[in-house]
Amino acid sequence: TAAVHAEGIVKRYGPTVALDGARLTVRPGEAHALVGRNGAGKSTLVSVLTGMARPDAGRVTFGGAPAPGWGDTAAWQRKVACVHQKSMTVPELTVAENLFLGRLPGGRTIRWRALRERARELLAGYGVEVDPAARIKELGVEQRQFVEIARALSFGARLIILDEPTARLDAGGIDRLFGRLRELRAQGVAFLFISHHLQEVHELCDTVTVFRDARHVLTAPVPGLAEDA
Ligand code: ADP
Ligand code: ADP
Repeated sequence: TAAVHAEGIVKRYGPTVALDGARLTVRPGEAHALVGRNGAGKSTLVSVLTGMARPDAGRVTFGGAPAPGWGDTAAWQRKVACVHQKSMTVPELTVAENLFLGRLPGGRTIRWRALRERARELLAGYGVEVDPAARIKELGVEQRQFVEIARALSFGARLIILDEPTARLDAGGIDRLFGRLRELRAQGVAFLFISHHLQEVHELCDTVTVFRDARHVLTAPVPGLAEDA
């Protein structure tokens, strides 16, 4: 069974048909790239696969089971993690608050000191030094992006979608992100990686799907697989 399978997905925004019967299958443990020019429908598909946009038609399954109900955010988060193109952090809140709020066990005193320490460790795992008590709005662009990434990847989902995650990273940051993704992959986590950069697709992915005009065009192996794939 597929980590995620989508078929017949239709999504309209007024007169614009963003997805026109689109399909996609990502298998367990696969590093799957999704490419296509601007406006091909990639980000819209990401919204549909993460429960953020309700399709007008079509079917999504995770591991063969129907996707969670519309609006059941917690259930979607357990199925699929996502680094969106748009920021999902709250600028006014601290790094630790952004990483842990909304998913702390209820009925217990929050031990912020321990959480700040955990936040520091989490980001150090990406080679990023960040003050966990700093507000997001005080951070540099790359630090901020790694908070987004660390937050998404710490939900423990077996499927991770990354929509242009390297856009705000320099070469060193990209290496650190890819290193972490390879570790996750070695643990059997699948990912869907959206990128304009063919070199990144080559480095990271074993399978590529091309979208054009709101539809699937082809899915094929990436030639010249990454050395550790
Ligand atoms: P949108 O959400 O508007 O579709 P995209 O994420 O598709 O935006 O792309 C963001 C911008 O980055 C685009 O304007 C695109 O031209 C540019 N871009 C990204 N990667 C490349 C690349 N490899 N070569 C040229 N332009 C790129
Ligand atoms: P890609 O990510 O491949 O660049 P998108 O999914 O962002 O493509 O966009 C597909 C089409 O849907 C584009 O024509 C875009 O302008 C349109 N679109 C996407 N999101 C919205 C929205 N929220 N409202 C209106 N039109 C949208």
